[in-house]
Amino acid sequence: MKIDGGCHCGFLTYEAEVDPAQVEICHCTDCQKLSGSAFRVVVPAGPGSFRLLTGIPKTYVKTAESGNRRIQAFCPHCGTSIYSTALVEGKAATPPAIGLRVGTITQRAQLAPKAQFWNRSRLGWVIGIGDLPATETE
Ligand SMILES: [Zn+2]
Ligand SMILES: [Zn+2]
Repeated sequence: MKIDGGCHCGFLTYEAEVDPAQVEICHCTDCQKLSGSAFRVVVPAGPGSFRLLTGIPKTYVKTAESGNRRIQAFCPHCGTSIYSTALVEGKAATPPAIGLRVGTITQRAQLAPKAQFWNRSRLGWVIGIGDLPATETE
C-alpha cells in the first residue's frame, strides 16, 4: 500500500510502499530509549520505494549488542524519528532496507501490528494498558 508521512514540524516528508502484514512492534531497549516510549512500531519500506520529499534528516549511528551498526534518521529540528537502516561499508549490491517508524505515517491507523519481537525486554505493564482508565482527550 502507498503511504506518506513526515515529522512533527513538517520539515521532513516522505512517501513509500509498505506491506501492512509486515508491521511489527519492537520491545528492544534501544527502541525504548530512542523512541522515548515503551516500544516502537515499525514497518519496512518496500525495496526501493522510500522517497524523501522534503528535508534532509540528521543521522545517528547506533551499535547493537551484536555489533551491527544502524543509521537512525531523525528530524534535525523537531527530533522525530523517521527511519532506520543498516550502515553498509562500501558499495552494497542492494541498498539496505528502510525501517519506517509507523507513528510518522499518515495512514498509521490502518497499520496494526502483526507481530512483536524482543519480548525479552518488553515492559511487563504493556499488556494491561487496555484496562486503564481512559479519556477521549487529555
Ligand atoms: Zn521535524
Ligand atoms: Zn528495537
